[in-house]
Formats: sequence, C-alpha cells, structure tokens
Amino acid sequence: MHIEGKNNINFVAEKSKYMYRTHTCGELRIADSGKQVTLSGWVQRVRDKGKMIWIDLRDRYGITQLVAEDGTTDSATLDLIKKIGREYVLQVSGEVIERESKNANMSTGEVEIKILSINILSNSETPPFTIEEESDGGEELRMRYRFLDLRRPNLHRNLMLRHRMAQIVRNYLSDKEFIEVETPFLIKSTPEGARDFVVPSRMHEGKFYALPQSPQLFKQLLMVGGYDRYFQITKCFRDEDFRADRQPEFSQIDCEMAFVEQNDILETFEGLVKHVFKVVKGIDFTEPFQRMTYDEAMERYGNDRPDLRFGMRIVDFTQIVKGKDFKIFDEAEYIGAICAETPTEYTRKQLDALTDFVKRPQIGAKGLVYLKYGTDGSLKSSADKFYSTEELNRWVEALGATPGSLILVLSGDKSQTLSALSELRLEMGTQLNMRDKNKYAPLWVVDFPLFEKDSTTGRLHAMHHPFTSPKKSDLHLLETDPVKVKADAYDIVLNGSEIGGGSVRIFDRSIQSKMFDLLGFSKEEAEAQFGFLLNAFKYGAPPHAGIAFGFDRWVTIFSGSDSIRDVMAFPKNNAGKDIMLDAPAELHDDQLKELSLSVSYQKK
Ligand code: ASP
Repeated sequence: MHIEGKNNINFVAEKSKYMYRTHTCGELRIADSGKQVTLSGWVQRVRDKGKMIWIDLRDRYGITQLVAEDGTTDSATLDLIKKIGREYVLQVSGEVIERESKNANMSTGEVEIKILSINILSNSETPPFTIEEESDGGEELRMRYRFLDLRRPNLHRNLMLRHRMAQIVRNYLSDKEFIEVETPFLIKSTPEGARDFVVPSRMHEGKFYALPQSPQLFKQLLMVGGYDRYFQITKCFRDEDFRADRQPEFSQIDCEMAFVEQNDILETFEGLVKHVFKVVKGIDFTEPFQRMTYDEAMERYGNDRPDLRFGMRIVDFTQIVKGKDFKIFDEAEYIGAICAETPTEYTRKQLDALTDFVKRPQIGAKGLVYLKYGTDGSLKSSADKFYSTEELNRWVEALGATPGSLILVLSGDKSQTLSALSELRLEMGTQLNMRDKNKYAPLWVVDFPLFEKDSTTGRLHAMHHPFTSPKKSDLHLLETDPVKVKADAYDIVLNGSEIGGGSVRIFDRSIQSKMFDLLGFSKEEAEAQFGFLLNAFKYGAPPHAGIAFGFDRWVTIFSGSDSIRDVMAFPKNNAGKDIMLDAPAELHDDQLKELSLSVSYQKK
C-alpha cells in the first residue's frame, strides 16, 4: 500500500516554504545525486566506525542515511556528531551522493547525504524502548510513552490508513447526498445495552449528563427533522468490561436514511464497503455480498459473525449418534461436529491440547470426542467402544469428510455447545492457517431475533436496541410469542468480526409503546427516558433505517493489526486506563465543591 507517495506530492509543493527542510527523509533517490539538501528528523541510530560515522535519520516519510568522514567533514561538525544519540532531532544539510553499499529494502537505499553542517534541534534522553517496526517495549511501557510509540512506522502507517479510510468514506457518502451532522456528547442515556459514562453538572446540582453510547436517538430525530441522509464519524462511549477489541471510547461511522427499507440500506452500504475495498485494497467485489440469516449463522457457525474465510461448518449430529448407550451423547440436548482437513494426522498430544482448549471455563465443554479418518481409510475414534465401523462411516458421510481428516464432536446444552463448536472451529482455522489476513470474506447477517431472554430473570432485552422494527410478518407474534419475533436488523461481518450493524426503525407510536411494554418499561419510565422521541413521532415521522460501522475495528482488519489499540492514536489499556495521562484520576476538593459533590464509596 502506498499511502506515503500520495502525501509526499502535496508536501513537496509546500515544503520549500519551510526553512527546516528541503526534502523529507523518504524522498531522495539516485536521480537527486549532487543536490544540496536539508533534512530534519529523528536519529534512528548512529554507527560510529571510527573513520566513518553513519546516522539514520527518520521522519514520517522514511529513513535517509547520513554520512560523515574523519578528514572530510570539518572537525566542529564531527565533534557535534559525536554527541548525538538516539531520538535526537537534527537538521542536516549536505550533498546527495550515491551509496557504495546500496540497500534494496529502503526506498532511499541507493543514496546517502554527505553531511556538511548539522544542527541539533533537540536532544533526547535514551528512549525506554527502540523505535522500530517491532518494538522491544512491552504494552504497558509503550502506552506510558505513547508519543514515542507513535513514532514507529507501523503506527504511522495505521493512522495514515485510518485517515484515508475516513476521507474515502466522507467523500463517498457526501457524493451520495449524505450530510455529516454533529450530535452532542453531553446528553441523557442512550439505550445500546451498556453502562453510561456520566458527567456531573455544576450548574444543576446533583444532576448528571450521560455520554452517548451512540448517536442513535439524534439520528432518528434528524430523520424527523427532514435530513433524509445523515452520517457522522463520531465517538461513542460505553462503560463495559474490557476485551481485546473493545475500548471505552471508540469511533463509529454512524448513518441513517429516511424513506428506505432494509434492502435499500444493505445495497447503499454494501456500495460503501465495496468502494473502500477497491480504493484501499484494490479488491473488486463484483458479486453481491452473501446474506445469511441469523439462524443459519448460529446453526452452521455457532455465532452471529461467521468467519467465512474457511468452511468447516458445523453439522448437527444429534440424530446420528444418539441411542448407542454412549451416556454423554444420550443425555445431551445437542451434539454437533466439525471436520478439519489436517495436513498430517493429529497426534495424541495435539488432541489432548484441543480437549484442554474446549474445557477452558470460557468455552465450557465437558470433553471432546474425535474421529480420525486416516489417509488409508482407517477410522480411529475416542468413542469406538460405542460405535461400529459402519456407524462411524455415517459420521464421515454426514460431514462429507475425505481421508486424512479429523472429525471433532461436542455435546451438551444446545446454545452452549454451538458456541463451544464455534470457538473450536476458529481454533482449528487458526491452527491450519486458514485465517489469512490478506483474504477477506464479507457478508451480511440478517433476520436477527427482536429480543433475547435473560435466562435468570426471564426478562426480555432488545437484541439490537428498543427502536428496532419487528418484521411485519411477525407482528402478530408480539403478543403471543415475542421471543420468536424476528427483527429487520442486520450486521455486516468481515473475517469473523462484526464491523457494522443496524436496523429498520419503528416509526409507529403504538408499536414503539408495545415494544417498551415488552421490555418492561412502565409508561412513565418510557416517557421519562425517551419522551422526546415519542413526542417527535407525534409530528410526522418518516419510515427510516440506519447502520453504524465500528470504524476502529474496520481499520484494524484492513491494517492487519491484532488489536484496535494499534489503530488509535491514544487508546486506553486493557483496564480502561490511559497510563500516559494517568486517567481516570481523583478530583481536587475544589472541583468536587464546585460540583457540589463529595465522594464516599459504597460497597458493590
Ligand atoms: N446505534 C446502533 C449501534 O450503535 C447502530 C444503528 O442501529 O444504527 O449499534
């Protein structure tokens, strides 16, 4: 990906105005030999070989090698050079010369700058870790010194990519008549299912604002306000427990349209995703993205964000294996299997490791049954006491297994077993290198249930949010069997990650009231929390629908990074802390006083 080049072009035209440099550190080539140039940047490293001294000078655009020579370079300059250490900021003037030993891995690798004069703009303490593509600093250290971490080329690349993707999205949507509207951060609670971050009000004692979990209610109000195509790249705030791909504040590409149905949204935003793929990755998806129902995703992949870079779909074995006196299977509600084509036969040790994997508390399976289908046609199973060869052959048939494959079977409660199978499938995909970062498998997951039922309290919760429209064909079930009601809700999934999701909204007040009712809100509660929306709906609400993309996640996948922290300039750590700022922090007494607050801790 060549994002550097494009930026350099703009920069070249501008930079002669600046006194600090005539060129960037990523720019000079053999054709520039003989030119007098001035560069500014950071010292990547100094190699002092006695007679010759080399310095690698780095900026955002690249690295250029500088050279000084005892006898040629004047002694005052040489004395200065001897003082230089890593991460010093230099301004260097000199002549571009051809390098004796060229470095084909660097874009400037054919030249070096013969130093004529040097100006130390800033010195530096020895940095706590090396500023290179792969740093030797641990996460904690790099976060504390994020300003140094940000100097690493991969972070430059990631933030450039993020910037470009934002530009592409803005241009694409603007060309399609979407307008970007900012919505407030100091608001009242929005219902995205997480806890709110709250901000105390000084002027209104004892009252608090909530930070938006998303601009959901505002974008719906914008539709009522007549702005039929809205988008915004904005921050959302959710106080949730932390996971690898979660941050308490993150960015969404938030969108809403009026006078549309589900299909219009899917087509419009599939267009956006394809466009970004084409411009950023050079990948042309000519076929429509697959649309898979939620039920199919759950049955065949065990979760609602299937990674379709590989097959290994789950097959329901419940009918096939029951009734053979194998107690574990006979007592299970559900039995499911996957089939992996392994390059070599899995050893006892590998199978034990897989068993340990599925038994981890977060996965929660009781055990693992396997069947090895040898390249010679042999069948070896951990349950062959209970199953004849003929019966095991039925397993092979059910999965369409070919010789040399490994069948893995889990059993238990249905939803928990499917979710364990999903984890096992992903683990096998990883072990067998089927989750190639350069391969992309987007799809839509559609027809989500409207509600999910809390297994302990029996209460219904909105699976997406309370403004999501039930499918027209399921309206009659709202009264009788709400758990069966499907919603006009959809997610866009890429390589096993949900990169976006949205829904058609309820715009009929009576259905909205029914929805609040089913979710257990009293009339008064609904009025207190969402009265303004219900009120707006009294004055002509257009049919509307929308979607929001998790921008950080999308950039993470495109950048090939493992964590969303790598595509954010100043992320929080795994415990939600900004280690550099030392936030969150306590407030001064004065501040508390101004807010009319005193802090005392309640036991949780
Ligand atoms: N507000 C939703 C979310 O943040 C997206 C949407 O329904 O448009 O997930």
